[in-house]
Amino acid sequence: MKAKTHAEEAAAFIKDDARTHWHDETLWHVRSNRDRSAQGIPEWETLRDTASATKNYVLSHLGELLEQFEANAKANGVEVLWARDDKEHNEHVYRILQENKVSNIVKSKSILTEECGLNHYLEKKGYDVVDTDLGERIIQFAKQTPSHIVLPAIHLKKQDIGEIFHDHIGTKKGASDPNYLTEAARQHLRKKFVEANAAITGVNFGIAETGGFVVCTNEGNADMGTHLADVHIACMGIEKLIPRAADLGVFLRLLARSATGQSITNYSSHFHRPAKGKKLYIILVDNGRTAQLGREDFKNSLKCIRCGACMNTCPIYRRSGGHSYNYTVPGPIGSILSPGRDLKQYSTLPFASTLCGSCSDVCPVKINIHEQLYKWRQVITENTNVDKSKQLSMKVAGMTFGKPVLYDLAGKMARTALKITPKSLVYSSLNVWGKHRDLPEVPKESFKEWFKKNRKQ
Ligand code: SF4
Repeated sequence: MKAKTHAEEAAAFIKDDARTHWHDETLWHVRSNRDRSAQGIPEWETLRDTASATKNYVLSHLGELLEQFEANAKANGVEVLWARDDKEHNEHVYRILQENKVSNIVKSKSILTEECGLNHYLEKKGYDVVDTDLGERIIQFAKQTPSHIVLPAIHLKKQDIGEIFHDHIGTKKGASDPNYLTEAARQHLRKKFVEANAAITGVNFGIAETGGFVVCTNEGNADMGTHLADVHIACMGIEKLIPRAADLGVFLRLLARSATGQSITNYSSHFHRPAKGKKLYIILVDNGRTAQLGREDFKNSLKCIRCGACMNTCPIYRRSGGHSYNYTVPGPIGSILSPGRDLKQYSTLPFASTLCGSCSDVCPVKINIHEQLYKWRQVITENTNVDKSKQLSMKVAGMTFGKPVLYDLAGKMARTALKITPKSLVYSSLNVWGKHRDLPEVPKESFKEWFKKNRKQ
């Protein structure tokens, strides 16, 4: 089946006008919190510069830093595994679960395991994976995917969550009080934590110098899972490295402020070695990352620390919702990561942008997101079958803009045509731009004509 375009998916989202406005305003509120928090520390831009330079160093020394990380982690008693792709990653997890006779699994939020389709894979093998992040648990119950990398259930209202909880954990029908629902989720998850004998986590930062790693959560669910279970499996994308423990402070200060405006994530948990009698595994996953590293124009997208700030600020994301991207990482950063995975399938995503540059402005590691979006558009136009009507209109526009005489003539004709054409024709299905917007009032003359008349005054 042909994948839906971003515009088609977005059209479905914006049908619910109230939700579109609410979604937009909620994320703008998060963006405003980020601004206040960032402006509260005078060294903000220095932190961004330092983080960007550190990540550039990581990308240019990735091989040796990974080997250093592996050697140090092994010396700490950690079993380190490598996965070329999602399949190998999932197979490693399954083998570990089998070898350790695991029956109950808890998982804290990990975008990488979403990317690898781990839950689905393990469910097919007969395992029940319990997502323990509150937002993740909600969407797991609803059989949906996250619509945001930091706020996975941001597309749902408290009334929706009340219904989902009523169906799955027996809360009162119609109850939507956040305190009541959170307490119910807490009690439900406590039981799952106690029963679990394996905990799966993601990794926010792996430290090459020590072989240790850090997991950031606001709910403490990664700690709860790993402290109670005998087996901890940490799944880490190979780009998540930082060279030294001393670099960590810069990233922790940037991450929480950029994500939600908090000064620090509630729990920044450090893992170095397995506790006595327990096992700790780290799976280092490539899954297309080295291919992206080889793309000169796009490699620095791998600097991303998954804070979500580019989504919160993006006018398209805020008004079209995360599911409209149909990719694990939605929004501006997802639109430059996804074409590298499948150029054809994700060919419409780099066009889902105004190229306003707000994403690049807020990015804590200074990724030139909007420039990469623009670059992908060129690659896509050259390599895929872009819509014929679009190709033709671009050709005509190129010709018109290239010849002043033609441009003046086209302007005159358009001004006259718009004055005499009935509205029903101007706002017909042929004019996609006018679907939700009014055209500006037609001026009497062009700017050039006005300037000629008025320049002497
Ligand atoms: S690209 Fe930048 S702003 Fe967007 S999620 Fe990654 S680090 Fe955050």
